[in-house]
Amino acid sequence: MIDGSVKKASITLESDIRYLKGIGGKRSAALRDVGVEKLIDLLYYAPAKYIDRSMVVSVAKLRKNWWEFQRINAVTFIGRVVDKKILVSSGGRQILEIVIDDGTGRLSCTWFNKIEYFKRQFEIGDLVAVFGKPSVFRGRINIVHPEFDFLTEADSVNIHTGRIVPVYPLTSKLKSLGLNTLKLRELINFVIDNYIDYVEETLPEKILAKYGLVPLKFAIRSIHFPETHEGLQLALKRLKFEEMFLLQLLLARKHYELKHFEKGISFKKIGELVHGFSRILPFKLTEAQRRVVREIWNDMKSDKPMNRLLQGDVGSGKTIVALISMLIAVDNGYQAAFMAPTEILAEQHYATFLNFLDSLPVKVRLLIGSLKSKEKKEILSEIENGEAQIIIGTHALIQERVNFKNLGLVVIDEQHRFGVMQRAMLIGKGYNPDVLIMTATPIPRTLALTVYGDLDVSIIDEMPRKRKVKTEIVPDTERERVYEFLRSKVREGHQAYIVYPLIEESEKLDLESAIENYVRLKNEVFPEFNLGLVHGRMPGTERQEVMLAFKEGKIQILIATTVIEVGIDIPNATIMVIESAERFGLSQLHQLRGRIGRGEKQSYCFLIAKSSLFRKSSDDALFEFEDEATEESKAMERLKIIASTMDGFKIAEKDLELRGPGEFFGTKQSGFIKFKFADIAADKEILEIARQEAFELIKQDPNLSKPEHAGLKKEFLKRYSDEVNLAKIS
Ligand code: ADP
Ligand code: MG
Repeated sequence: MIDGSVKKASITLESDIRYLKGIGGKRSAALRDVGVEKLIDLLYYAPAKYIDRSMVVSVAKLRKNWWEFQRINAVTFIGRVVDKKILVSSGGRQILEIVIDDGTGRLSCTWFNKIEYFKRQFEIGDLVAVFGKPSVFRGRINIVHPEFDFLTEADSVNIHTGRIVPVYPLTSKLKSLGLNTLKLRELINFVIDNYIDYVEETLPEKILAKYGLVPLKFAIRSIHFPETHEGLQLALKRLKFEEMFLLQLLLARKHYELKHFEKGISFKKIGELVHGFSRILPFKLTEAQRRVVREIWNDMKSDKPMNRLLQGDVGSGKTIVALISMLIAVDNGYQAAFMAPTEILAEQHYATFLNFLDSLPVKVRLLIGSLKSKEKKEILSEIENGEAQIIIGTHALIQERVNFKNLGLVVIDEQHRFGVMQRAMLIGKGYNPDVLIMTATPIPRTLALTVYGDLDVSIIDEMPRKRKVKTEIVPDTERERVYEFLRSKVREGHQAYIVYPLIEESEKLDLESAIENYVRLKNEVFPEFNLGLVHGRMPGTERQEVMLAFKEGKIQILIATTVIEVGIDIPNATIMVIESAERFGLSQLHQLRGRIGRGEKQSYCFLIAKSSLFRKSSDDALFEFEDEATEESKAMERLKIIASTMDGFKIAEKDLELRGPGEFFGTKQSGFIKFKFADIAADKEILEIARQEAFELIKQDPNLSKPEHAGLKKEFLKRYSDEVNLAKIS
């Protein structure tokens, strides 16, 4: 029993929660699983939602003032369970009814879903608080699907009712140990009552005043036990701000460290290679490309290391910009490395670069795992003696046995963050090259500011030419129609991709199915054309042969798994058929579609999806809970978004909304984007302000040594001491 006392007199907010009475080994372990180790963590244990119990009424009062209450959305009743039974509606539907008596009258609560589950929750005699909008059912006052929880005798009208009450996120482990929402409320209430005075303000007075943010003590109290709705909103705003501000402070500090403590290369000139390249370039750079090249050149000139993120939609011309940057490095006597996320992409970029640089005196090399060992050895020695000037490969490029003569620039083409680790590793090998990171697909601004927030950012926001792509969602029952269309276009000389999904969890099955389909298409559907197959499991040389044949037009229809996603550039390919499109994510679909519309001709994208997705939802949906939107309806929503826009930044925003930041980026980045209170998609404005203030503050007081930043510094070091250069800050 948690009775509001502690086991030891001298505990503080930093003490282990085990010192609270009622919290033994098992309970503390379960709490640790949800991130609560110390008393202070309990104060930051964010409610999942709130129930407004500020209006508790009696059944009698409600009956008397029925019409008045009809205007109010929801109220709370407190009473004892006196009956529970299952009724059958005239339509044959089962309904669970729980009858509650509050001493002034009776009230029924009804459920249409999960009847057995809810029936098990209630026992005759239980004291319960129910919350919802009252209506009338079979002559009795009734609430359909009320919110509810159970009260114990003593506490009926204290922290659990008569106010806005928090509902905490629970794990089954917590629940099985009796740590339900009620217990947590008591526990947290106890810690607030006894320890809130020890909480120190973290944000500087000036910032609190400027943005009307409430003090931390008030915020913590109100996040659990708000007096009013406004109080709750103010508390939330303050805590969201604090969370984002502290992270931005870390990013600002990292940015500062890079610019102040590290010395980079100062490139001196734009030389012959860059000039030669601009003469042979078959097109003019767009305004945006030119601006970004200038931004990069400014970084490269400076003796501070470059750490720049290059964003742009598929087809916006990032590759050319990267190439020019690498030529600048080579012109100055340095080597440049280009890292791609997969071997296929490395090969593809290698082919593109060779193509562009054909007539220029620069040595380009490809280093990938599947090279023959003799070849590899040769390239490794060329990298070491400096003969190889531009080297393309995967991440392996900067690891292990690769030794550069003088690495000056690293371009990283990927979605994921080039970690601090990798930079440290390069520095450890004696290099501190300039780094340019390109994202394969656009990243929503809020995410970019968070995950890549310590980098400088360049954005190419202009397309070299308008891409003409029509997109259609097609049920798989109408696949023949698509094949017929494809046939007529290929006869006119176009080329096509047909893509099958291949996801990790079912990789083997997916691969088999892609191969089977290839055989079927080749022999039965399109016997008159040449078909090719590429997938990630093929030996590199074979894959290169197929890609080359497709590029040269010898293969007309290319069957592929998702490996062709990024970077492939064949303007004559104008048709893309994506099978089982419902299994792909938004960014993936956008990337895939980015493979067509690259030439002058009108292009077509067909998203083939299972026909059940096209069925109208049944009446039963009325009774579904809102947040249980089915996988199918979500999949259809994704397809509709893709069909409705070609704008990669818009698609990325939607993707973030639909999937949340964790999945958008994959687990790798999740540490950066796990906020307790803030929502990276919804709290854009707070993020912008927090960032601006954090960068300004680091500029004014990089070591947080001013007295007015003492509280902030303490909290900052508590959270991030592993990540900043402590020797220089404390
Ligand atoms: P991204 O890497 O951003 O997806 P790419 O660099 O592959 O885009 O460019 C897409 C296509 O547009 C390529 O065929 C490229 O040669 C071409 N391209 C790039 N810049 C221009 C430009 N300024 N004018 C015309 N075509 C361009
Ligand atoms: Mg530099």
